[in-house]
Amino acid sequence: MVGPTAGAAPAADAAAPVLIGIGVGGGSAVGPVARMAAPPALPAPHTVAPDRIPDERAAVRRALRETATDLRRRAEATDGTASEVLSAQALMADDPALGDRAEALVAEGTDGAHALAVAFGEFRTALEAAGGYFAERVADLDDLRDRSVARLLGLPMPGLPDPGHPHVLVAEDLAPADTALLDPRRVVALVTERGGPTSHTAILARTLGLPAVVGCAGAADLADGREVLVDGAAGTVRTDPSPEAVAEAAEGDRRRRERVARAHGPGRTADGRPVKLLVNLGGLGELPDAAAADSEGVGLFRTEFLFLDRAEAPGLEEQTAAYREVFTAFAGRRVVVRTLDAGADKPLPFVTAADEQNPALGVRGLRATVRDPRLLETQLAAVARAADGSGAEVWVMAPMVSLPREAADFAARVRAHGLPVAGSMVEVPAAALRSGELARACDFLSIGTNDLAQYTFAADRTLGSLAELLDPWQPALLDLVGTTAREGARHGRPVGVCGEAAADPTLALVLTGLGVTSLSAAPGRLGEVRASLAAHTLDDCRRLADLALTASDAASARAAVSEALG
Ligand code: PEP
Ligand code: MG
Repeated sequence: MVGPTAGAAPAADAAAPVLIGIGVGGGSAVGPVARMAAPPALPAPHTVAPDRIPDERAAVRRALRETATDLRRRAEATDGTASEVLSAQALMADDPALGDRAEALVAEGTDGAHALAVAFGEFRTALEAAGGYFAERVADLDDLRDRSVARLLGLPMPGLPDPGHPHVLVAEDLAPADTALLDPRRVVALVTERGGPTSHTAILARTLGLPAVVGCAGAADLADGREVLVDGAAGTVRTDPSPEAVAEAAEGDRRRRERVARAHGPGRTADGRPVKLLVNLGGLGELPDAAAADSEGVGLFRTEFLFLDRAEAPGLEEQTAAYREVFTAFAGRRVVVRTLDAGADKPLPFVTAADEQNPALGVRGLRATVRDPRLLETQLAAVARAADGSGAEVWVMAPMVSLPREAADFAARVRAHGLPVAGSMVEVPAAALRSGELARACDFLSIGTNDLAQYTFAADRTLGSLAELLDPWQPALLDLVGTTAREGARHGRPVGVCGEAAADPTLALVLTGLGVTSLSAAPGRLGEVRASLAAHTLDDCRRLADLALTASDAASARAAVSEALG
């Protein structure tokens, strides 16, 4: 059986080897491993002997032809953005000028792999020079080069694997660009060697509702085709699981689904304290699931996902159309738009300086848009136009605010566009420590626990090896959340959490006890969070928050709260 676990029967499975990482996404799934291979390394260059040149030319042509055929087959087997990207890549591989150039290089004695690399390199330069849409396709061209070279050399195909059946995707890590091609009908679970609880892969897994284990040491050694049981709640990957272990995991999933099915509607504690439950939204591809979710709106619209892979910022018209699509889908509900958050793990060529030594500490988020005010002005103008008459309650907030003055300037700019509600994210310890002043300077605060953990613990959020420091249960992080919630309440401002911490149904109780008034998470996570809130009173939540705050580290905070919950 492949896919989400099904069946029922208890019993552990002591014999099978277990890999341990950070569980995300909840639930479990079983299936064969399909590995994402690394791009091929070019061998040392060599000169092709004259009598071998015809064969080498034919091999280069064949590699391009077979790459195109494979991409077309994959395009037909999928739909939407993935199909469009794959078809466009197949067309590029078929371009006669590319094949002619590679063959001409072989005719001069260059070996096939280097001939392909040089020919693709020249096309890349031409695309970049053309700018606009063409320049945005350079990543697709690089992928095509790697595939053609791998085919020529008989190496494993790089990029997302397509074994033709449902599988557990195992990778070193996933880049934002990989995710457009990931087919959730084929991928039943994700396992990555790298990445922490707030890495891009973890966010993607929660968005797709896939069980995942990230930062999983030993994942690189899992062989293609090996059967594994991935448990996103426990953070384990069990190889060659017994039927009993699969059944036990399935039983856990069944109980979880039952719990979730019992709670609906606006979030509230057992004694009626409202806690707004909102969804996080990335690109427009996520919109149908996000809009269909039982939520009171969007708590974090990551607008930079519309800009990824772009060489230039989309213009006013294009942005307006994209925002309008979102606002219309959420008519009657709230949408919190976050202005462009470029930099660090989300670099954008037209915003991010290439020469920063520490991009996470550099000109990112609001800092970048203030340096180039046109970006922010165009974005706010587009949001205002799209909001007009859409029926959605549109709020706007800035990422990476560090000073009350920045919050006040941003709020003034937002209001100048006729948008009435402006807020600040709290992702930098300085912002949390001065959250009272920040709250006075704008209308609401939203705590980004992913970056707040990164900056509080000086721990790169993309590093799985620092997962303990990035754990949102760390009492020092919870201190900052508590301070922000208290200061927000003192100034009559709502304070939400939109980082990945909000997706943890037990931590949601602690956040509520600390005074947070809304939680925003991937659509698939809201059910469990809602069920958890509905089962506990505000006093329960406050007691749990005290337990977590008085613990000395994340593990003991989690253990103290679990023990109290019984
Ligand atoms: C955060 O930092 O917690 C957050 C919500 O923003 P992002 O994950 O997009 O940086
Ligand atoms: Mg952030």
